[in-house]
Amino acid sequence: MQTTTRVAVIGGGVVGCSVLYHLTKLGWSDVILLERSELTSGSTWHAAGGFHTLNGDTNMAALQGYTIKLYKELEEITGMSCGLHHVGGVTLADNKDRFDMLVAERAKHRYMGLETEIVGPEEISKIAPVTNIDGVIGALYDPLDGHLDPSGTTHAYAKAARMGGATIETHCKVLQTTQRTDGTWDISTNKGSIHAEHIVNAAGLWAREVGAMAGIYFPLLPMEHQYIVTEEVPEIAAIIDNGGEHPHVMDPAGESYLRQEGRGLCIGFYEQPCRPWSVSGTPWDFGHELLPDDFDKIEDSIAFAYKRFPALERAGVKSVIHGPFTFAPDGNPLVGPVPGMRNYWSACAVMAGFSQGGGVGLTLAQWMVEGEPDRDVFAMDCARFGKWITPGYTVPKVIENYQRRFSVSYPNEELPAARGVRRTPMYDTFTSMGAVWGAQFGLEVPNYFTKAGEPNFEAPSFRRSNAWEATKREVKAVRHGVGINEVHNFSKFLVTGANARTWLDRVMAGRLPKPGRLSLTPMLSHKGKLIGDFTVSCISEGKFQLTASYGSQEYHRRWFEQNMEDGVQLENISDRRNGFQIAGPKAAEVLQACTATTIREIKFLDVVEMVVGSTDCLVQQVSYTGDHGFEIYCDPMAQHALWSTLWTAGAPHAMAPFGMRAMMSLRLDKFFGSWMSEFSPDYTAAETGLDRFISFKKNTNFIGRSIAEAERAVPPARQLVVFEVDALDADVVAYEPVFIDGEVQGFCTSGGYSHHAEKSIAFALVPRSCVNDDLAVEIEILGQRRPAKLLLEPLL
Ligand SMILES: Cc1cc2nc3c(=O)[nH]c(=O)nc-3n(C[C@H](O)[C@H](O)[C@H](O)COP(=O)(O)OP(=O)(O)OC[C@H]3O[C@@H](n4cnc5c(N)ncnc54)[C@H](O)[C@@H]3O)c2cc1C
Repeated sequence: MQTTTRVAVIGGGVVGCSVLYHLTKLGWSDVILLERSELTSGSTWHAAGGFHTLNGDTNMAALQGYTIKLYKELEEITGMSCGLHHVGGVTLADNKDRFDMLVAERAKHRYMGLETEIVGPEEISKIAPVTNIDGVIGALYDPLDGHLDPSGTTHAYAKAARMGGATIETHCKVLQTTQRTDGTWDISTNKGSIHAEHIVNAAGLWAREVGAMAGIYFPLLPMEHQYIVTEEVPEIAAIIDNGGEHPHVMDPAGESYLRQEGRGLCIGFYEQPCRPWSVSGTPWDFGHELLPDDFDKIEDSIAFAYKRFPALERAGVKSVIHGPFTFAPDGNPLVGPVPGMRNYWSACAVMAGFSQGGGVGLTLAQWMVEGEPDRDVFAMDCARFGKWITPGYTVPKVIENYQRRFSVSYPNEELPAARGVRRTPMYDTFTSMGAVWGAQFGLEVPNYFTKAGEPNFEAPSFRRSNAWEATKREVKAVRHGVGINEVHNFSKFLVTGANARTWLDRVMAGRLPKPGRLSLTPMLSHKGKLIGDFTVSCISEGKFQLTASYGSQEYHRRWFEQNMEDGVQLENISDRRNGFQIAGPKAAEVLQACTATTIREIKFLDVVEMVVGSTDCLVQQVSYTGDHGFEIYCDPMAQHALWSTLWTAGAPHAMAPFGMRAMMSLRLDKFFGSWMSEFSPDYTAAETGLDRFISFKKNTNFIGRSIAEAERAVPPARQLVVFEVDALDADVVAYEPVFIDGEVQGFCTSGGYSHHAEKSIAFALVPRSCVNDDLAVEIEILGQRRPAKLLLEPLL
C-alpha cells in the first residue's frame, strides 16, 4: 500500500466513494479510499435505493436535485449502469395541513426550477393506480423521484474516482489516527501506515468509532429500518407488460414509502415503535448480516398500508430487509471541517445516501479544494451543533427525528425531545412569568409570555398562530413603554492582544470602532459571500467583544481559528457573558434609575462599562428592536441580581418581558434583516444591502475585498427589497416565489407580521432591473398569489 497521500477517505460506502470521485473531479488526484472490507459493506448494501428531491431545507433540496442529475453523468463517464429508474413519485396528503405543506413546497420549487406539480385524487389514481385514494385530498408529483441499484451506483462512483487518479484500498481497516504537530495525520491500518495531509471520516455505521480515534464525538446514532419486497403483484405485472413502470408513492399518513421492485412491490416504514441500534457503539464484526425480521414493530404500519395499497395484502412476502443506518439529531448529514480540528473532515450521518450522497461529495470536495462550498450548507454543516452535545441529547433527538420523518413540519414548531439541556439562571423566573419556550442551539429561549388563563403552548401552524395576541401585546409594550429580554442567544467572542485590531480589520469588512464605540460589520468569505453579520464593540484598545448569531458560534469560531494570526487571543464567551436588553421609549429612564452613570450622555453605538445596581456591566446603546435601547452584559453569576435591579426599576413604567416572536416582529419595522434569512453564505453584501457597512476607505485587504469591490463597480443582478403584502391569515415565512409581470422572478428570504405597523411584511430578492418605486408584485403564500407593493421607507 502507498505510504503517503493528500487525502485519506475512510469508508467505502456510497458517501465515501462520492467524496473520492468529487475530489478527483475538482482536480485532486492524490487521494485514497480505505475500506475495511469490500465497498458497500456498511448501510449502503441494505438500501432500497430510492431517491427524491423533497427536503424541508431548500439548499438540501437543491443538493438532492444535484445528486439525482449526477447519476446520468456517472453512467456516461464510467460506462457502468446505476440501474436507474426515473419513475417519478407522488407524496400524498390526507389532511389540510399536509396539503398546505406540499403546496408550500411546490411554491419553493418554482424558483428552484424543479418541475413538481400538485395533483388531485383522480390524477393520483391515474399516476399511481395501486393507491386507494379514500381520504386523500391531493399530492405533490415529482418527476425526478426514482430508484437505482445501490451497489452498482457505489461502484460507478468508485470507477469514476479511479479514472480521475484515485486509489481504493479494500480490506484495509483503519485502526488508529494520530495527528502530527504540523496538522497532518498518521493512519495505521492492518495493511501498514499511511501519512495523509487530510482525513475524511465517511465511515457511516462506524463513524463514531473512527471519530473517537481522533477524540471527536460525532452526534449520530444508527436506527433499525425495515422494508419488505413482495412476490409478483398482478397490477404491477400488468403495467410492466404494457411497457410501463409504477411510480413511487410516499404516504406520510402511513409513514411508508412504496415502489415497484421487479414484478412486485417494495414498501418500507418509518414506524413509531422504532428502535435505535447499537447505542453504545457499532461492533467491528458487524458486516453483511441483516437484523432479524420484526413484523411486530411494523404491525400497525402494515395494517395501514393494506388499506392504502390493497394489492399488498394479496401479495406474498419475497424478502425482508432489516438493517441499521445513521442519523444526526435533526436528520441532516454532518459535513465539513470538524470545528476545533485541523485537516479533519466529516462526511457522516448521511441518512439518504442515494438522494444526498452526490451533494455531500460535491460540497465537501469544494470545501477542501476551493476553501468553501458554493452555497449555504449550514443545514448539514457539522458546526451546527456545539460542544455541549452528548449522547443524552443525540439519542432522544434521533428517535424523535425518525418518528417524525413523515410528519408535517410547521414553521413555528418547537420539538419536545431533549429539551432543557441548556438553561440560563432566568429559566425558572421566566417560566413563572408565563414563558413559552423555544430551543436554539440547545438553549431554552422564551418565544413569548402568556397571561394567566392563556394556553402556554403555541399550536403548530402554517397560519398566524395562537401566539398572535401575546406577541402583539409585547410589541406594543416595547414600542410604547419598555420591554426586557435576555441577551443569552447572541454569541459573544472576546478578542484581545496587541494585534487584535489589525486582525479584526482583516477578518471584518466593516470599519472598526474606536474605544468606547461599537460598529456593525459584515464578515465575508474569500468568495465574497456573507458569512457573518457582527456587532464589534471596542471595550478598550486591544480588547473587543463580538456579538452575532448564537447558533452560528461554532461556525464562526472555526472560521476565526482558520484565519488566526499571532498576537491575537480569541475566546468564545457566549455562555460566560449574559444579561438583558431593555428597549423602548422608557428604557433610558429605567437604566438611569439603576446606575450612577449619566445615561443621557451615552450616545447611539456607545459602549460603556458601568455598575448597574450591584453588578459590573458592559452597556451598549443599540437594539435590534429598532427602539432606543440598551444591551447590558454581565457575568451570569450576577444575572439574577441584575434582573432584580432592572425589574424593580422597570415596575413604575410597566416594563414587560418580551420573547423572540416579538423581537422578530419588531425588527421588521426597521427593515432589519436576520442572520440565515436575509444574510447567509448564499448571498453577498451588495445583494442584501449590507455593503453599506463595508469600509472601502480602510487601507486593509480584508477577506473578500476584491469581490466586494467588483460588486461595487458592477452591482449584482439581484437586490434585497421589502414588500407590504396583502396577506390573509398567513404571512411569508421564507422562499415563497415572487411573481413580477406574471413570471416567477424572485423569492422571499423571510417575513412576518409587524404588530406595530399592522402590516404583513416580506423581504425578497428580486432582479435589480425590476426595482422601481411603484413595483407591485404577487407573492405565493400557501397556494394563493397575494398582491404586494414595494416599501420605500422603514415603518418606524
Ligand atoms: C433498510 C435500509 C433501507 C434504506 N433505503 C434507502 C433508500 O431507499 N434511499 C437512500 O437514499 N438511502 C437508504 N438507506 C440509507 C443508506 O443506506 C445510507 O444513507 C447510506 O448507505 C450511507 O452510506 P455511507 O457511505 O455514509 O455509510 P456506510 O454504507 O455505512 O459505509 C461506511 C463504510 O465505511 C467502512 N468503514 C467503517 N470503519 C472503517 C474503518 N475503520 N476502516 C476502513 N473502513 C471503514 C465500512 O466498512 C463501510 O463500508 C437505507 C438504509 C437501510 C438500512
